[in-house]
Parts: sequence; structure tokens; C-alpha cells
Amino acid sequence: MSRINPVPSIEEAITAATGRPFKPTSSRRIGGGDINEAICLEGDGQRVFVKRNLADRLPMFAAEVDGLNALGDTGCIRVPRAIAHGVDTDGAWLALEFIEMRGSPSAAGARFGEQLAALHAIPGAHFGWPRDNFIGTTPQPNLLADEWISFLREQRLGFQLRLAANNGAPHTLIHRGEQLLEVLPQFFTTYHPFPSLLHGDLWGGNWGVDETGMPVLFDPAVYRGDREADIAMSELFGGFGADFYAAYRAALPLDPGYGTRRTLYNLYHLLNHFNLFGGGYASQALHGIDSLLAELR
Ligand code: ADP
Repeated sequence: MSRINPVPSIEEAITAATGRPFKPTSSRRIGGGDINEAICLEGDGQRVFVKRNLADRLPMFAAEVDGLNALGDTGCIRVPRAIAHGVDTDGAWLALEFIEMRGSPSAAGARFGEQLAALHAIPGAHFGWPRDNFIGTTPQPNLLADEWISFLREQRLGFQLRLAANNGAPHTLIHRGEQLLEVLPQFFTTYHPFPSLLHGDLWGGNWGVDETGMPVLFDPAVYRGDREADIAMSELFGGFGADFYAAYRAALPLDPGYGTRRTLYNLYHLLNHFNLFGGGYASQALHGIDSLLAELR
């Protein structure tokens, strides 16, 4: 007679991972996320940050663990330590070290700029990443590549354009987007990026400041790419403040062509936002494409 092994509970999995019995006595919801339910579990002097979603979202959590480990391994910026992830009867879950996010991120802007520059300065061997992951809930293909322009064309902009076409984007957007893909090399005539480890989803909702005032980076969509892509995204929804950019540029100056490529790189996120949320993101993306094409005339 065979017996089916019961699925370990979150508590059992955390106990096995940490080697310390974990019996939470309280649970409180944490706001601020836009995809998952976030909870702080507390008991026996331990606090654990848990994200939950439907069982089929487990690959998202596995990719998040991979990304956090990659960023954490560099030692450049604090990221939450991944403890365990799995599926139980309530769905998929991810358990991370709980970090109290206190204080104002703007006061830590300069330090964060220096730390991000240190992360970006480490040269990698290839563009891409050994596994695919997600940008929001959209799959993000990462096939390793020796050449940045073809990676950007096929695995970033082309991938999102195809999704947008399937999601009913206006024909003009797809057509002009395809025109842009054909002329991509013209944005790189004197600029040749090297592969930096990127956070990949670097907006203001994905970093905070711990109790000691140190920046904390979370919720990544890592790959190796042009570091300008991280900086561009940081500017898409309001920016990280003058101290951040001054410190970053002092440590790692930006090429004069960055201002144009910022539009190019943010096109990826605008297309992704169209694919996730629809609405006005299509016209923002088209506006970006038109301004890029106009620069080449
Ligand atoms: P989502 O995947 O749903 O976008 P986030 O990873 O952005 O969720 O986390 C949601 C919120 O929880 C964040 O805005 C942040 O304030 C807080 N948070 C994230 N990671 C931790 C952590 N390890 N410890 C404590 N709070 C965290």
C-alpha cells in the first residue's frame, strides 16, 4: 500500500530551512505590493515575510528567489534572504527574511546610487540570464546572447510587441515598433554596453530603507544587460531624486546618448504595461517610438 506524502506546511518548510522551530503566533498583512498578498508571520522571536498567490504562480516565486540570490551574492546592496518557497493547500508561497522598511528612501538616495553603480560595474560574460523569469506577471525570456542589440530586439522589444499584437494593440503601434526594431543599431553607433547584472524592474516600489538607513532592493527581474536600462526605468515613474543620480553618475558616468536610449529602454516597460493593463500605455509607447524614429531622420 502506498501513502501520499502530505504537503509540508509553510511552518514546516521554514523550520526545515532555518533549523529553528517556527510556530507563528501572529500574522499581519503588509501593503505596497501590486501582485501578491504579503504577510508578516511572527512567533518565537522570529519574523518572516511571506508572499502568497495562486498555485500556478509558483514559477514566479522560484524566479524571484533566483534573482534575490544573484543580487545578494554580489554583496553590493542588501536584499532579503530567501528562506523557502512552495505550494500548500492555499496556493503558492514564498518566505523571505523580514526586513522592517523604515525611514525615507530619499535620505538614502546617494548611498543607493553608489551601491547600484557598484552592482552595475561588475562585468558579466554574456547578456541574458541562465533562466527565464518574469517582469510583473509577464514571462521574460532571457536566452544568453553575446550581442546586446539582437538580445534587445528579439527578447525584449520584439517579444513585447508580439504580445501587444496578440492583445489587440493598434496596428500603427505594431507597425512602427517593427520599423524601430530594424534600425536599432543606429542607437549604438558609438556606444557599446557591457553585460551588467540588472535588477530589471527598478521602480520606486521595489526598494526601501532598513532600520539602519541602508537601502534594500527587492522584487527583481534580473538579467545581464545594459545598465542604462535600470537607470531608465528608475526615471519612468517619477525618478529616485537628485542625490541618487548624482552619486550613481559620480561612480559610473552615463554616456551622452543615454537620454535617447532611455526612451528606447522604457519602451519595453510601456509595452509590458500595455500587455498587463491595456489603456493609455499603447499611446505612450507609440509616442516613444515616434520620437525615436524622428531622431534618426
Ligand atoms: P509584490 O510582488 O506583490 O509586488 P513586493 O515584493 O513589492 O510585492 O512587496 C510588497 C511590499 O512589502 C513592499 O512594498 C515592501 O514595502 C514590503 N516588503 C517587501 N519585501 C519585504 C521584506 N523582505 N520584509 C518586509 N517587508 C517587505
